[in-house]
Amino acid sequence: MARTYRPKMSPTVHEFDLIHALRRQHSVHTPSVIRGIGDDAAVIASRAGQWTVLTTDLLTEGVHFDLRTATMADIGFRAAAANLSDIAAMGATPHYLLVSLAIPRTGASRHVHQMYRGIMAACSPHHVRLIGGDTSASSGGWFLSLTLIGIVSPNNALFRKGARIGDYLYVTGTIGDSLAGLRLLNEPTPRATRHSRTAALSTKDRQFLIGRHLRPTARIAEGRWLSAHHLASSAIDLSDGLSGDLRHICEDSHVGVELDLGALPLSPACRAYAAARKLDPVHLALTGGEDYELLFTVSARQRSRLDRSAIKRGFSLTCIGTIHPHRFGLQALSPQGTRHRLAMTSYEHFT
Ligand code: ADP
Ligand code: MG
Repeated sequence: MARTYRPKMSPTVHEFDLIHALRRQHSVHTPSVIRGIGDDAAVIASRAGQWTVLTTDLLTEGVHFDLRTATMADIGFRAAAANLSDIAAMGATPHYLLVSLAIPRTGASRHVHQMYRGIMAACSPHHVRLIGGDTSASSGGWFLSLTLIGIVSPNNALFRKGARIGDYLYVTGTIGDSLAGLRLLNEPTPRATRHSRTAALSTKDRQFLIGRHLRPTARIAEGRWLSAHHLASSAIDLSDGLSGDLRHICEDSHVGVELDLGALPLSPACRAYAAARKLDPVHLALTGGEDYELLFTVSARQRSRLDRSAIKRGFSLTCIGTIHPHRFGLQALSPQGTRHRLAMTSYEHFT
């Protein structure tokens, strides 16, 4: 690529040495990768009769991550988990990864290697292979973009559309933890405050919530299970927050939903955090993004099969609502039995 403006790479980072080191460390020996890192483009052998699923995410320092509260490895891990989660929500299996990186002048190659360690810690359990990327200097902060390629059988792919009236709404794991973890990271340190606010929360709960924010688990096994067994009628991953992501299912499936707020799966740590900070944990669960759990719908006919199979496999699922006609809108049922229209608040850029 012709460069009209090229800020100098950080004095300690040599682009070609770095790529060479990445190539050495992450060299791929698998028959489907014809060319990995090192040529002008990667070449992979596609499988007949399969759909290719592609997803990409861009993370910007100061917008998506803060180097004061996350390590380079955490940033890499979280970026990979976000992409893996998108693949999981399609019911697909992740296979190949491309990483593009802009390195500020303050960046050193050890930072890059730490970042890749985090990326690979999230990807390796799923046998995802690094097949290429791009590297540039940045005149601002760090930029990290991941592109993940997966595969799914045409009969099994899951979409946001597909929810039907009478379906049940489910979610994996627990929600609200990531937002609680993020807020904990951004709180002033206990010593800095006169009345130690953080003392009310146990170290274990604190570490759990911060871990859920910095090292989220993409629900790959759950997504593949839902798709392979035709259990879900629609699915999405929770990246923007339950109320916002639920709206996507409703709009794309042209349905309404009744959300049972009393049923939302809240972790003990999230409840403890909310109690300590005098917050409503349900509000954290509704608006908190980046939990990377799967939100999906299941027909009434499949429901008992789903529940039984989930128990057998040790998957944690919670039924949190039912699908209604579109005109019903999004309504939340409180534990007290009162009903209200759901505000669609979630994290949005540019607002
Ligand atoms: P080009 O000039 O054609 O873009 P590069 O020198 O940027 O070539 O890249 C050479 C090889 O190294 C390519 O296979 C590319 O995919 C890979 N690569 C470059 N940067 C990265 C990176 N940050 N992570 C992984 N692979 C990379
Ligand atoms: Mg390049």
